[in-house]
This record gives sequence, C-alpha cells and structure tokens, in this order.
Amino acid sequence: MADCVCVVSEFRAGNFRRVSFEVASEGRRVADALGLPLYGIAVGSGVSDKAEELGFYGVDKVFVADDAALEHYVAETYVPVMAEIIQGLNPAAILLPASVDGKDLSARLAARLQAGLAQDCTEVVCENGVLKAKRPIFAGKCLAWCEWSQGALPMISCRPNVMDCKAADASRKAAVEKVDAAVPEARSRALSVDLDTSGKVELTEAEIIVSGGRGMKGPENFTILEELARELGAAVGASRAAVDAGWRPHSDQVGQTGKVVNPNLYIAVGISGAIQHLAGMGSSKFIVAVNKDPEAPIFSKADFGVVEDLFNFVPVFTEEVRVLKS
Ligand code: FAD
Repeated sequence: MADCVCVVSEFRAGNFRRVSFEVASEGRRVADALGLPLYGIAVGSGVSDKAEELGFYGVDKVFVADDAALEHYVAETYVPVMAEIIQGLNPAAILLPASVDGKDLSARLAARLQAGLAQDCTEVVCENGVLKAKRPIFAGKCLAWCEWSQGALPMISCRPNVMDCKAADASRKAAVEKVDAAVPEARSRALSVDLDTSGKVELTEAEIIVSGGRGMKGPENFTILEELARELGAAVGASRAAVDAGWRPHSDQVGQTGKVVNPNLYIAVGISGAIQHLAGMGSSKFIVAVNKDPEAPIFSKADFGVVEDLFNFVPVFTEEVRVLKS
C-alpha cells in the first residue's frame, strides 16, 4: 500500500515557477481520487521560506532540501537528493513539471527510482484507482494513453500551461519538514545564470503569444508584433525560419525543435504552419492566423483566420486593441 502522492516543484531565483502550482493542483486531484495525502518535494537554495506556499494549491506537507549548493539545477545534485527524499515516502505516483529542466530531471529520477515515466502529459485521469496519462506523440499527430502495469510506480511529467491550476487559497498553508539530504559533490556546476531582466513574459508560461515567421521579412519588422504583444500582455515567439535567419533568438522558437507552448491565444503572423511548427503550438486553446496566402496550412489549424497582408493588418489591429482598452 502506498502512503501518498508526490509532486516535485521547481524553485528558481527565489520563487516557485508557475508550473509547480499547476502540478500541485493536478497532484491534489490525483491524491483525492486515490484517497491519499499529497506531499511536495522542494529543493533549492532559500526554498524553506516559500515552501508553505505549495499548500495554497493543495499540498499537505512539503519536504524541503535547502542548501546553497542547490541554488541552480544540476542533475548530479538534484537527482540523488530528490530520490533520497522520495524513497522514504512510498508514493503511489509522482508528478513533476515537463519544463526544460523537468524533462531532464524526470528521466534521470525515473531511472533511479525504477519508475515508469510518461513524459510531457496533457491529461491525467484516475478510474477506479487506476491512473492513466495522455501524451502527444509523433510531433503531436497522435495522442497516446499510458497505463502502468500492476506494481509499477507511475511518474508523470505535466506539460506547462495545460493542467488546470487551482485558485491560490492563502489560508491553506502546507506543513514543512526540512530534510537533511546529503548533497553530493558534483563534477559539474553552474558558474552563473543570466536571468532575462527584460520583463518579457516567458513563452511556456504566457497566456497569449504573438509569433512571427518568414513573412515578417526582416528582424526590424518584429517591432509591430512587439507593439501588439505589449497591448495584449503577450509574449513574442517565432518560427524556425525567423530564428534560422537570425531575426530572433533561439529561445523564442516555437515548434518541434523549439518550445512547446499552450497559451489561451496564439496569433501566428506570416507563418505557413509547417508540421514542425504545429507540433509546438497546436494544442493552444484558440489559434488566430494572419497570412496573405488563403491556402496556407496554418488555416486548417486556426480557429480564426485573417487572409491579408500582415503589414496592413497588424498595425490596424494593434490600434483597435489600444482603443478597446482605453
Ligand atoms: P514559411 O514556410 O516560408 O512561411 C512564411 C509564410 O508567410 C507563408 O505562408 C506566406 O504566405 C506568409 N507571408 C509572406 N509574406 C506575408 C505578408 N506580407 N503578409 C502575410 N503573410 C505573409 N519550424 C518551426 O517553426 N519550429 C520548429 O521547431 C521547427 N523544427 C524543425 C525540425 C526539423 C527536423 C525540420 C526539418 C524542420 C523544422 N522546422 C521548424 C521548419 C519547418 O519545416 C518550416 O520550414 C518553418 O516552420 C517555416 O517557417 P515559416 O512558416 O515562418 O516560413
């Protein structure tokens, strides 16, 4: 008999990333379905002061490893520390973020804990005490339901921005237990981390994304997308064609070899809709495409299509948004 459901959080630069709260909310649903308490795992430097916040999203108790050596994510230190904590908890299932670090962590943690990992899941259900997780495969062309054989430990990494996040209940604080986990000497360490201080919304956490492709014609024209994004409170993304041309940094790339995003609204501007791009944004909740070619494949995926020259449409649209807001 298992004793709990575990959720792994992601603590960076003094705060939990939003995906930690989404995973906690999903973990709460799974724990309730299995009739078990929900335990959180929080690892980092200075994380003790914030750990009880996980309770706002349904975690009952948080096990904390707080050490200056854990300031940055390094697999060699995080994996053994987390594995040691989880091994003592006897979980029925482990949920964690399918963020960039989370994908690296989950694969290594699953190997160490001999768990069965379903990576990058978009839905978790529990039917009669049996867990199932849905994950997109073949660049999002198919959806696979994963089940675990009896006795296997399910580990589910959750795609950011997909699972419903509970509204924070600040009156519900989690109990916090500090753990004296031994932090191993790592052969590699992060010397420094350059944080983006531009105040830009991170693509994988953005509720609205405005993305530009080769149709933007040049880097200077992205200013019209940035203006629209500013009005909408959106992040700016790009197709690989725009990134390969050197118009945008690789961190802006959406798609199979870029970021997988799930905003409420994705506006694709001057993007044709190649399968590799769709793999990164196809599960967005509402898709708008702006393209002068009515045959562009992006329109088959879009909820709303604008067949127009983007240089005519975008500035007018931005002005309309500005007027509506004022
Ligand atoms: P194009 O396909 O050239 O489309 C430009 C569009 O702009 C056209 O539809 C055109 O009608 C429209 N347009 C032009 N001018 C205007 C105008 N004035 N007004 C309105 N519309 C206009 N791609 C990604 O995006 N992300 C990935 O992660 C990715 N990974 C890949 C991985 C592999 C292994 C491979 C082989 C490819 C990958 N690609 C990826 C590339 C992908 O196949 C496409 O080449 C790329 O997405 C095309 O980018 P695009 O739509 O901006 O350009």
